[in-house]
Amino acid sequence: MNQGVEAGATLSVVVPCYNESEVIDVTVPRLLAMADSMTDLHTELVFVDDGSRDATLSQLKAWATRDARIKVLSFARNFGHQVAVTAGIDAARGDAVVLIDADLQDPPEVVPQMVAKWREGFDVVYGMRTEREGETAFKRVTAKAFYRLLNRMSDVPIPLDTGDFRLMSRRVVDALKAMPERDRFVRGMVSWVGFRQVALPYRRAERFAGESKYPLRKMLRFATDGLLSFSTKPLQMAISVGALASALAFAGIVYALIIRLATDRWVEGWAALFIATLFLGGVQLITVGILGEYIGRIYHEVKRRPLYVVGETVGLGHADD
Ligand code: UDP
Ligand code: MG
Repeated sequence: MNQGVEAGATLSVVVPCYNESEVIDVTVPRLLAMADSMTDLHTELVFVDDGSRDATLSQLKAWATRDARIKVLSFARNFGHQVAVTAGIDAARGDAVVLIDADLQDPPEVVPQMVAKWREGFDVVYGMRTEREGETAFKRVTAKAFYRLLNRMSDVPIPLDTGDFRLMSRRVVDALKAMPERDRFVRGMVSWVGFRQVALPYRRAERFAGESKYPLRKMLRFATDGLLSFSTKPLQMAISVGALASALAFAGIVYALIIRLATDRWVEGWAALFIATLFLGGVQLITVGILGEYIGRIYHEVKRRPLYVVGETVGLGHADD
């Protein structure tokens, strides 16, 4: 049995919100109803406003004045989903923490099932999407391919088709809080921690309203973060590609020498020369690019900037509450 799972334990629900004003007034009551349904747990809802430019923050603050279980933390600007989740985890006081999206794609009604698994003694209960409704074929196909690629490249097995929708026990949360890395790929970090982890299948619903806050650009960034934070295989692949290119280049050199020394057709070699130059140039650029990505991340780490800047908080025990 986990520590603190007795009646009277606290569950923190962390909700990152970026320009979610269209869904907030529906999401909050749904989450409160979910909290009410679990009578033997005290629940706090920690909303992280990730620098929204719409009315999200004022709506959240209005809800916080109506119900003391609602806590709000706002960022000075948009720091991104993974950082918002991190801030929520940092602020959460519960014996267990649930991460859930604001757009109701992760059904709050699944949370009590997660809690039941936690009571059985699991430390991480991650939601596994059996279906994804209302998402474009492009997103489904790329997401599927990404999770499979990630798993082949990563040294830590990261469960397929899972998002950040999950419950974590206090000891997992404390382990996460001790991981200071800048490029945060939360679902991979949770896998890395270990303890007893279990999947809970659920149907991922359609976004309730509004648009995805993950345009292709952010999705690519997120996928690169996942790959590069959890694997050094791209560096090894750069070596393999470099070795292959060198072997081809060597064959080309031998060919050029033979043409030059043993025949009188040697001016015709310009095509081979041209191709070899382009090919080697390409391979070098790719390799330097991969190196650059890792060096960029090292640069990021050594700057030691805080991960986020907090604007205001409500109900979290800070001085300005
Ligand atoms: N989100 C955020 N900051 C961002 C982008 C998204 O806090 O920069 C939040 C967003 O409000 C939502 C969750 O992260 O609660 C997931 O985003 P979204 O639903 O847009 O992603 P999708 O479900 O399309 O992958
Ligand atoms: Mg969504």
